[in-house]
Amino acid sequence: MKIFKPNNISNKSVNELNERLNVLEEKFKVIASERERKANDEIEARFAKMREERKKTMGPDGWKYETPEEDAYYMQKELKEPPESRYKYFKDAPYWHSPENVNHSHNGPCAPECPFSEPNGRIEDEDVKAYYSIPPAQRPGCFEFYGQRVMKRKLVRM
Ligand SMILES: [Zn+2]
Repeated sequence: MKIFKPNNISNKSVNELNERLNVLEEKFKVIASERERKANDEIEARFAKMREERKKTMGPDGWKYETPEEDAYYMQKELKEPPESRYKYFKDAPYWHSPENVNHSHNGPCAPECPFSEPNGRIEDEDVKAYYSIPPAQRPGCFEFYGQRVMKRKLVRM
């Protein structure tokens, strides 16, 4: 933060003041992110209850009735992640997380046909938005969906 310095104030006291302002700024940032984290924990606890309720009343198909509020929240959450870490999430997913993809293995290296076989890649914001634009009941598995988009771009580059 820059502050205006009249002539009768020493550079040293201006520097000290700047130091203190920077410390305060950092503290405010920590408080703000802590507050956001708490708010998100509350939202997610509420969503967890809703999921439990749906499971009770609708059985294993309950996920098809995810509300627009849940959708919007989880989409925003995914969009906050950088494209590289979204890719890494799928790349590092254990096999049980990816039953749709027989080429994905964590007992050994992925088959070259696996969309996540390259060490680095990206799942773009557009991919996330496209996924959430599909109504929950029609949505394919996320592994399959993002995998196809990653694969398509890989083929274009080859
Ligand atoms: Zn793989």
